Amino acid sequence: MCDTCFSLENEWFTASGLGRVHSWTVCHHAFHRGFASLAPYVLLTVDLAEGVRMVAPMVVPDACRLAIGLPVILDYQDRHDDITVPRFRIHGEDDADG
Ligand SMILES: [Zn+2]
Repeated sequence: MCDTCFSLENEWFTASGLGRVHSWTVCHHAFHRGFASLAPYVLLTVDLAEGVRMVAPMVVPDACRLAIGLPVILDYQDRHDDITVPRFRIHGEDDADG
């Protein structure tokens, strides 16, 4: 939804995956049992370079390193043979847990 005019018109496009931290929360209770083994984990809200906002878990060894405006990049993790999930990591750092 457009946060200016509340329009529901949209179109698909390929995004770069680059963005900056808008905000985050540390989840101690997983919203789905598939994430229970990860708790506590960081759920990040990111302003993507293309101008849309996206929410996904984040690979971060220490939430104290997070800051508003921190550059991040989207990647993906295979959680199961049939399930791949998006997640963010700090841009320029390697994947912390595969
Ligand atoms: Zn609009």
